[in-house]
Amino acid sequence: MSKPARGFGLIGASTISREWMIQAIRAQEDAEIVAVMSRDKARGEAFAQEFGIPKSYDSLEAILADPAIDAVYVATTNDRHHGEVLASAAAGKHVLCDKPITTSLALARAMVAACDKAGVVLATNHHLRNAASHRAIRETIRSGQLGKLVLARIAHGALIPKHLQTWRLNDPTTGAGAVLDLAVHDADLLNFLLDDEIIEVEAMTANTGLASGDIEDTAITIGRTAKGVLIQFQDVFNTPFNKNSLEIHGTEGSIFAYDVMTQQPRGHVWLRDAAGEHELELDHEDLYTLGVRRFIGATRGEDSVPASGEDGARSLAVALAILESAKSGRRATVSSFGTSF
Ligand code: NDP
Repeated sequence: MSKPARGFGLIGASTISREWMIQAIRAQEDAEIVAVMSRDKARGEAFAQEFGIPKSYDSLEAILADPAIDAVYVATTNDRHHGEVLASAAAGKHVLCDKPITTSLALARAMVAACDKAGVVLATNHHLRNAASHRAIRETIRSGQLGKLVLARIAHGALIPKHLQTWRLNDPTTGAGAVLDLAVHDADLLNFLLDDEIIEVEAMTANTGLASGDIEDTAITIGRTAKGVLIQFQDVFNTPFNKNSLEIHGTEGSIFAYDVMTQQPRGHVWLRDAAGEHELELDHEDLYTLGVRRFIGATRGEDSVPASGEDGARSLAVALAILESAKSGRRATVSSFGTSF
């Protein structure tokens, strides 16, 4: 195992680092950001200066050669994750990779195998697992209060912010679209909450005019888990007045959650059952800070990551099945990790 994560390198001068991850890493007691890497030298230098990051590199080789870096946070366009993770593993760096872990299952399997072989931790930044709301829902389900699970439904997305209306909407080479951006989170979240795996889906997608060409800005999916729970997701970039929600229904109780499909530590969850309806108490904490804390803990052998590389591969498998179903007009089977892909 490589040495524990203390010095971090940021791969990509990205919005997610700017808005969430720099503060999440700096909130840790024993971690620092050593360097940022951008393909664009000037953008990397400006980013480093803006955030007080000591070093800026303009190549992957250079940042990975820095001995002060124990771990990297990969937050580039989705098509770049694979090559960057493989190179990071080969350099002995632990990896926190953003979602979708990559754009094909074969690449995801290679990433997991490379990190295993190199003895480095690979985590997928499925931040929703860290939300107080979702952790409370999971505990409620595990305690049996919902009885036998029957249905789960997620409404996710509203209007993609103006400053993110770039490659996700207009560059098909990057792993664009609402499915790889949003539905991949829904898939991971339901696998996590239900302690189950989505095994088949049927989906329709649309470009309502925000995206270019064949890229979808809207998707609707139905599906089934291995334990027989029926699921539904709505994922959308182009509905500014939308509100997100999640419902999980069982034979003994139902969960109604609002404002929980978000990056913010907020939202409300109600349990409705024979005793009436009550709101769950939530102790909100920044989702990304908790995720980085557990990632560092995992590199020390003291904790496990919230979502592993395998979890990232599982959520990607669902997203790819959604895209396949939307294209073919037929139900699609989700490939399972370690067997068919
Ligand atoms: P950005 O578009 O901000 O950045 C993506 C990459 O594009 C950067 O790494 C950077 O690479 C390059 N880039 C940045 N600014 C510019 C620019 N002005 N012109 C051209 N290229 C630029 O993407 P996001 O931060 O939104 O997303 C990055 C990754 O994080 C994606 O995989 C996404 O799915 C994921 N993500 C995850 C979230 C979560 O909550 N888990 C939330 C948001 C995103 P370089 O500097 O090397 O050129």
